[in-house]
Amino acid sequence: MSSKKETLQFKTEVQQLLNLIINSLYSNKDIFLRELISNASDAIDKLRFKAQTEPDILGNDTEYKIKITPDGIKQTIEISDNGIGMTYNEVMENIGTIAKSGTAAFLEAISEAQQQDTLTPELIGQFGVGFYSSFIVADKVSLLTRAAGEEKATLWESIGDGSYTIEEATKRTRGTQITLHLKKKEKDEKDFTEEWTIRRIVKQHSDFVSYPIVMDVEKDEPIPEAEQLLDKEGKPVGKTTRKVIQEEALNSMKAIWIQDKKDVTQEEYDEFYKHISHDWNPPLTQLHLKLEGTTEYHALLYIPSQVPFDLFNPEHKHGINLYCKRVFIMDDCEDLMPEYFRFIKGVVDAPDLNLNVSREILQQDKLVRNIRKNLVKKIIDLLGNMDKEVYDKFYNEFGSILKIGIHMDSENRDKIARLARYQTTKTEGKRISLAEYIANMKAEQNDIYFITGENLASLLNNPHLEQLKEKDFEVILMADPIDEWVVQSLTEFEGKPFKSAEKGDLDIQKVDDGKKEEFNALFSFIKSHLENKVKEVTPSTRLKDSASCLSGKDYDMSAYMEKIMKATGQKAPEVKRILELNMDHPLVVKIKAIYDKERNDPVLKDYSDLLYDMAVIGEGGKLDNPSRFTKMVGDLMSSALNV
Ligand code: ADP
Repeated sequence: MSSKKETLQFKTEVQQLLNLIINSLYSNKDIFLRELISNASDAIDKLRFKAQTEPDILGNDTEYKIKITPDGIKQTIEISDNGIGMTYNEVMENIGTIAKSGTAAFLEAISEAQQQDTLTPELIGQFGVGFYSSFIVADKVSLLTRAAGEEKATLWESIGDGSYTIEEATKRTRGTQITLHLKKKEKDEKDFTEEWTIRRIVKQHSDFVSYPIVMDVEKDEPIPEAEQLLDKEGKPVGKTTRKVIQEEALNSMKAIWIQDKKDVTQEEYDEFYKHISHDWNPPLTQLHLKLEGTTEYHALLYIPSQVPFDLFNPEHKHGINLYCKRVFIMDDCEDLMPEYFRFIKGVVDAPDLNLNVSREILQQDKLVRNIRKNLVKKIIDLLGNMDKEVYDKFYNEFGSILKIGIHMDSENRDKIARLARYQTTKTEGKRISLAEYIANMKAEQNDIYFITGENLASLLNNPHLEQLKEKDFEVILMADPIDEWVVQSLTEFEGKPFKSAEKGDLDIQKVDDGKKEEFNALFSFIKSHLENKVKEVTPSTRLKDSASCLSGKDYDMSAYMEKIMKATGQKAPEVKRILELNMDHPLVVKIKAIYDKERNDPVLKDYSDLLYDMAVIGEGGKLDNPSRFTKMVGDLMSSALNV
């Protein structure tokens, strides 16, 4: 720790973020107060959580509150809390750097939006600008803080110009006090030190904060009769009231999750969402639950309207806050929500919960497990009953994450599979459910056909589907990388087995045994030439217009899976595939004729290679030796063009 004053530079990304905030949020100035109050409220939460195991850190300062102190003459506004505070090192770590996950992705998205002129406050709000929003209204910010259990305090100051100072300081009480020196306001601009302005902002944005947000306000108090000047008839001569300063709570602290649904307005639901999620965009929908009986709880859950930037970052916080009879227990309660619902935000209040529950034992807690089970069921029901249009929106954002549940949650696999949506060879860009797929199945069709791959267009035209299309069988196109993994757990739906269009016997066509016999010698020849690449050469029941394709056994890895594994640096087991040839294709028929005439003709080897390379290209794969392929095709063309 250092006792002298140090001047340090902001991290580059902080300065970038600061400039961005200042330049793009000037018409949303109010939000600075919400952000600072929210940090203060978090700090009190943290203190209380810590005090569960270290009660001594509270001292006698247990009247939690957030205080706003405006000064109209000096044009300053101070926000202070008696929360956990920060040590010198914590100030260094938290203020002046952005420790938050997903910052890089966020800044990238922002600069892109800036270039395209589509930058909105909502976009920035998704990230939550936090402490830095101070600089929207202030040209100098001082933060004085003393951590719970520490004697020394720390003073941090900056004028937002790229540098800040930090030094040891003294502070009488625990907690953090932030002083904003307000920028000179333009004509007609509101004055943030005015009582009614502060009242309005707090009411609008921070009403649900669960600690009192107090301010000293001037009130009229009746003057006791004994102190009043009275005339002869006993009537007061002068004033009957006088001005006194009183501390008043500006927020209602309503715990809306324990209220009756009918007593909560949509505006309140939306504001509460913003409060807990730090997302400014209204949620897609909410789920307000009250369960009674052996497992008792209140829950208010939200589905955001957009995927947060950092959802897949390991540091991403799970969005459930746990309460016990309105008392905050912990945030980021991952045990209440499975991985595939990690985007859900909200509050769960369980009155029977042990108040001293720790994160470690939470997982084994029977009550918590029951609540989780119940919540999952309710969310699945909610999604299943959504309007199509709303569900489409949901699925666009969260479909990939939801599908993880098919793989991970065997208990709910069927129900989650029911929520999955796919494009098919027949839907022309629209998505359908598996139930709809089954309803559309042909009478003679037994299996649910699917194919996995990188992009829809190449899947749609994949040679593997030729015979299926000929039969007018619909094929599900799975182009989401996660599908490849999910479909491994999805062996059947409503009793119908899933069948990969590129693997095993499709059961749609019989091979003509006599014909197969005729091609046998040629196929053996090709097989021995392509020994290193394919494990079999067989007649195809999949192809109609193409000459060749590659397939696998039922339990082989798909071509796309192999590609994903290689792309992500995993060791994919070398599984040789099967070269399928179309015995009705003129090319194959002609190669057979050459073979029957002169089995040592050197072109046969080249043609074998070409058949293989064509199969690779047909499914959108990459050739090992593309230049050799183009040379062979070039030679063939020039010899064919007898002009
Ligand atoms: P966020 O709150 O989104 O994490 P901020 O930039 O607002 O981002 O704050 C960064 C960190 O600084 C917080 O995560 C917290 O650890 C710390 N912090 C901010 N305000 C306070 C406060 N009033 N009391 C204690 N710690 C605070």
